[in-house]
Amino acid sequence: MIVAGVDIGNASTETALGSIEPGGLKFLSSGIVSTTGIKGTRQNIHGVVASVKQAADKAGIRLEDIDFISLNEAAPVIGDVAMETITETIITESTLIGHNPHTPGGEGIGSGVTVSIKDLSRAGADRDYIAIIPGDVNYEDAAAIINGAAARGVAVKGAIVQKDDAVLIVNRLNTPIPVVDEVKFIEKVPAGMPAVVEVARAGGVVEMLSNPYGIATVFNLNPEETKFIVPVARALIGNRSAVVIKTPAGDVTERIIPAGKLQIIGEKQTLSVDIETGSETIMKTVLEASPVMDVKGEAGTNAGGMLERVRQTLSSLTNRLPADIKIQDLLAVDTFNPQKVSGGVAEEFSMENAVGLAAMVKSDRLQMDLIAKELTEQMKINVSVGGVEADMAIQGALTTPGVTSPLAIIDMGAGSTDASIITRTGYVKSVHLAGAGNMVTLLIQTELGLESWDIAEDIKRYPLARVESLFHIRHEDGTVQFFKEALPADTFARTVLIKEGAFVPIPIQVSLEKIKTVRKEAKEKVFVTNAIRALTMVTQTGNIREIDFVVLVGGSALDFEVPQLVTDALSRHGIVAGRGNVRGTEGPRNAVATGLVLDYGKRHP
Ligand code: ADP
Ligand code: MG
Repeated sequence: MIVAGVDIGNASTETALGSIEPGGLKFLSSGIVSTTGIKGTRQNIHGVVASVKQAADKAGIRLEDIDFISLNEAAPVIGDVAMETITETIITESTLIGHNPHTPGGEGIGSGVTVSIKDLSRAGADRDYIAIIPGDVNYEDAAAIINGAAARGVAVKGAIVQKDDAVLIVNRLNTPIPVVDEVKFIEKVPAGMPAVVEVARAGGVVEMLSNPYGIATVFNLNPEETKFIVPVARALIGNRSAVVIKTPAGDVTERIIPAGKLQIIGEKQTLSVDIETGSETIMKTVLEASPVMDVKGEAGTNAGGMLERVRQTLSSLTNRLPADIKIQDLLAVDTFNPQKVSGGVAEEFSMENAVGLAAMVKSDRLQMDLIAKELTEQMKINVSVGGVEADMAIQGALTTPGVTSPLAIIDMGAGSTDASIITRTGYVKSVHLAGAGNMVTLLIQTELGLESWDIAEDIKRYPLARVESLFHIRHEDGTVQFFKEALPADTFARTVLIKEGAFVPIPIQVSLEKIKTVRKEAKEKVFVTNAIRALTMVTQTGNIREIDFVVLVGGSALDFEVPQLVTDALSRHGIVAGRGNVRGTEGPRNAVATGLVLDYGKRHP
C-alpha cells in the first residue's frame, strides 16, 4: 500500500511518499513545489497534484499506484507583513541639504555666508562666503570671479554648483576650496545664510556634517536645535560631500504622525499599547494578553492603518469579511525606513524609525475538507485531512538521527514560525506565531531601500563578497580568493552575492558591511525573537529551561546563518538546538509530510 503525506505551506507544498509493507514502512521519495495560491484555499490543488506527481516520478511509480493521500490539517496560519514609519522629518525651505555627487571638487570644510556668484563683486570683505554657482555661469568665469574676489580680500571658503563642474572650477583656483556640484535645485538654496560645505578625500566620507555634534559645533546650535538636525546628520552618513545651510529659527520642523495604539484583545484581558514605545514593549504586551483573540488599531493613526491593511489583504485572500478576520498573533520589530527628506535639494534620504508588523490569522478547517474532496474527485485517490499538525511535525522531526523525545521543534517557514513540544509523558502542545522568512525578506528590502523583493530574498540567502580586482574577491568574512580567469567586467569593484557559484552584483550603493549587518539583524529580530517566544508558550511553566533539545525544521532552517543565530541564543538558556535532518536524508525539509506518512502507517499497520 502506497501512501503520500502532503504538507501545504505558505511557500512550499511538500510530499513524502511511503510504502507500507509487511516488514514495515519504507519511504520511497519526496516532492517539493511552490504552493499555488494562498495556503488553505482551493488554488492549492494544482500545487498538491504537482508535488505528488514529482514524488511519484522520482519513485518510478504512477499516480494511480498511490492508494491514499493524507493532507496536513493546516490549521493554517496566514502571515502578512506591514511596515509603517513612525516619524517623518520635513525640512522646510530646504534649510539643510546633504548631497552625494560623483565628483565633488577640493577637499576639507569651508564655512561662510551663502552668496550668489553674480553678487560676489558687491560683497564686503568683513566675512567669509560660500558661493552659489548656477548653471548659466561657466566654470572659467566662476573660477575667475572667485580668484578676483580673493585678490580684493573677499574670502570664498566653499561653493555649491549646479552643473557637474566642481573639479573644473577647483583646478582653476589659486587657493583650492571644497566644492559640491550637481545640486539640481540650486534656486532653492537661499542666499545670505550661514552654510558649511564639506568634501572628504577620495574614498572617504564626511565626518563633520554626518555628526549631529559636528553640525552643532559649526552652527553654534543649542541642545534643542541639535535634536532637530539629527535626521539631517543621519541622512549625510556615508556621503563623500555635503552642504548644510542654516536658515532662521523655526524652519526645521518635525512632524510626528500619530503612531497610535494597538489594542490587543486577549482571552482574559484587553490591553492597549502605544506603537511608539517600540517592539519590545509591544511584544511584552502581546505575551501578557495571550492567548490573543484579535488585535485592533486606533482609527486615524498609523497603527490603525497598518492593521486595517493587514486585515484587508487577509480578507481578500481568504474570501472572508474583514470583520471576520481575527488576528491571533502579532510580531513587531523595530526597523528603519529610508524616507525622502521633504525640502531637500538633491533628493536626500533620511532613515526614519519604523515598526514592522507580521500578523497571523487561522483559516478554517472547512476549506481544507473542501480541498480534500476536490482532490479525491480529480485524482481518483482517497484524500483526507490527517492528524493534528503539531503531532505530525514532531513525528517527522523525530526521524532526525540522534534525536529522541522529550523535545521541542521549531518549524520556520515563510509566513509563520510554528513550535511544538512533546514531553516525557507524551503531552503535545503547539503554537503558531506570526513572522518568519517573509518578514526577514521584507525587513531587508525596506532597510536597504531595495525596489525588488527578489533581490532582498537573494541577499537573505546568499553570502556577500567584494570584487577587488578582476582576479580576486574578498569574502564577507575577510578571506581572499584568487582566480586564474578574469571575472566578468561588470562585477569589478562591486559588492556581489555568491549565488550558486555565480557573482551577482547588488544594484545599490551600500557598503558590504551595512548589507551584512542589516541581513543578520533582520534574521535575529524575527527568528531569535520567535524561537524564544514559541518555546515560552509551549512549555507548561513558561520557563524555556525545562526544554533540553530543540530541532529546527522548515525552509528557513536551510538558511546559512539562521540556525546558528538561534542555536547561539538558545544555548544561553541551556538548550541544545540544531538543524533537523528528517529521515536522515531530507535536511530540515519535509518534516510534516513525513510525519503524515508515519502517522498513517501507525494507524494502519
Ligand atoms: P512554508 O512551510 O511556509 O511553506 P517553507 O518551510 O517552505 O515554508 O520555508 C519557506 C521559507 O524558507 C521562505 O521564507 C524562504 O525564503 C526560506 N528559504 C528557503 N530556502 C532558503 C535558503 N536556502 N536560505 C534561506 N532561506 C530559505
Ligand atoms: Mg511549513
